[in-house]
Amino acid sequence: MRLSHFEYRVPKTLEEAIELLESGGPDARLMAGGTDLLMKMKHGAIKPKLVISLKKIDGLDTIAFSEKTGLTIGATALLADVASHPDIIKHYPAVAEAARGTANVQVRNMGTVVGNLCNASPAADNAPTLLAMGTTVHIQGAGGKRDLPLEQFFKGPGLTALKGAEIVTALTVPLPPLNAGAAYLSLSARGKLDCTAVGVAAMVTMKKDVCDDLRLFIAACGPTPLRAPGAEEIMRGKTPADDLLERAGEQAAGEASPINDLRASADYRTRVVAVLTSRVIKEASKRALKR
Ligand SMILES: Cc1cc2nc3c(=O)[nH]c(=O)nc-3n(C[C@H](O)[C@H](O)[C@H](O)COP(=O)(O)OP(=O)(O)OC[C@H]3O[C@@H](n4cnc5c(N)ncnc54)[C@H](O)[C@@H]3O)c2cc1C
Repeated sequence: MRLSHFEYRVPKTLEEAIELLESGGPDARLMAGGTDLLMKMKHGAIKPKLVISLKKIDGLDTIAFSEKTGLTIGATALLADVASHPDIIKHYPAVAEAARGTANVQVRNMGTVVGNLCNASPAADNAPTLLAMGTTVHIQGAGGKRDLPLEQFFKGPGLTALKGAEIVTALTVPLPPLNAGAAYLSLSARGKLDCTAVGVAAMVTMKKDVCDDLRLFIAACGPTPLRAPGAEEIMRGKTPADDLLERAGEQAAGEASPINDLRASADYRTRVVAVLTSRVIKEASKRALKR
């Protein structure tokens, strides 16, 4: 399929990008790696008249870590760079694993973590882990800057909390508490060239052998990535023994609202949520005890 005609602009500053986005209105689209955007344009799902690349804006590709401020992932930081960054592998292994598990090497070398979130697919592989770890989204627009918890960012399939001419400039992920561990597990029907049919991420904070806190998020089982508060509650204050993990899994399956589509049936997804939830909590608890 051929792309329809569009103007392509490559601003050098964020201010210029915001101006272009404002002047283009609903006919303008931002592009980071373009791995989602160009596919939608090729299939005729969207026909923007103006495409604004973020790639040449200085500093947007930052990946930075400090004990005080945590991890910063800039808007154009590549999935491949997040997956292989030594500080991310050391302090946020689940974030690196989610990025490494996204798509294939070609897509990871073009696509970004921020683009994965802004595309707002319920199946976005990087969303559950970043949600579990309490990520903040940094946004800049014509009206100035604002920060938003990632939990308030997703509004529906393809819909985010971004308004008008706003750009996500970066994410920050706080340093996990002491004795916390996170993990992400996903399943897709045909390996990594297919979208995730179910993904589950957990961040567990342990006090000795007891689960002091749990944050649990599920991908591809609702219009946005979902939190499973009932399953979290089952685990809090208890030792993650196998029977309890199984109960938490069943509870999470009840909290998911999957649909039937070409990737999996709702019934299959529900069963997979139960299995992945108990496995991912177990893995995150193990990691917490090792820190
Ligand atoms: C073959 C293939 C396999 C794939 N496999 C997977 C997979 O396994 N898991 C998965 O989760 N995804 C997968 N994807 C989807 C895609 O590659 C990812 O979502 C990728 O991370 C998107 O990043 P990008 O930089 O290319 O985004 P782009 O395509 O550039 O942008 C995506 C959307 O976000 C908007 N946007 C981008 N940056 C910003 C910003 N800073 N502020 C505001 N809006 C912004 C764009 O306007 C666009 O609407 C796959 C895609 C392909 C083609």
